[in-house]
Amino acid sequence: MQILTVGTGSKGNCYVVEIDGESLIIECGSSLFGKLRKSLDYDFSKVKGALISHSHKDHCGDIKYLLQSGIHVASTEATFKGLDKYSGYIHFIKHKKGLKFGDFSVVCVKMVHDVECYGFYIKKGNETLFFATDTTDIPYVLPQVDVIMIEANYSQKILEQRLYDCDIVRSLYDRIRRSHFSIDKAEVVIMQQKRLKAAVLIHLSADNANADEFKHRIEQLGVITEVAKNGEILQFI
Ligand SMILES: [Zn+2]
Ligand SMILES: [Zn+2]
Repeated sequence: MQILTVGTGSKGNCYVVEIDGESLIIECGSSLFGKLRKSLDYDFSKVKGALISHSHKDHCGDIKYLLQSGIHVASTEATFKGLDKYSGYIHFIKHKKGLKFGDFSVVCVKMVHDVECYGFYIKKGNETLFFATDTTDIPYVLPQVDVIMIEANYSQKILEQRLYDCDIVRSLYDRIRRSHFSIDKAEVVIMQQKRLKAAVLIHLSADNANADEFKHRIEQLGVITEVAKNGEILQFI
């Protein structure tokens, strides 16, 4: 399994998961399609489809270009607003709905965000991946997977310190806690995984996260841990 991060964080998210010669795009945030195309050497032949978790622009801003390129895209109704003319390539997702893209099987699970948002359980051959971002909670028992890509937007400690220092207003503090996943919560999810080979921490906040500390904290659980970085390719399994 190979994971390319084209973009991660509130400025824009886009990842490409490749297993055995087939790829799946996850998210295509604003202004990232050009970088995505370049990263793939202008060749979409391996790409079997794209998954977009929700209708916020940092996740779906460039969705139109995926559809224009003839890529089948799965997402929520709100994400596809105004894109009816590409209906042949549009797939609506629902909680626990299964999808097939090439040899990838995907099950969508509903997350808890301020708009309808989904996580994805992805399987190809013997390899499995779970992807979750922009959620306050994962209210399910997750299947055991090989690799997890999970949001670690903030740490409660950093947020609280900033509030104490008057470096952040209360409304923003509340909004972050109501719509994003913390390293503290990611740690609990990862702890429950019994055969996890690797964890990739995604969508870290520029102000409320500490990449080195987060990586170290998850490594302490005995899991290979990476913090996703723009333009970087990770190789697992
Ligand atoms: Zn986001
Ligand atoms: Zn969002």
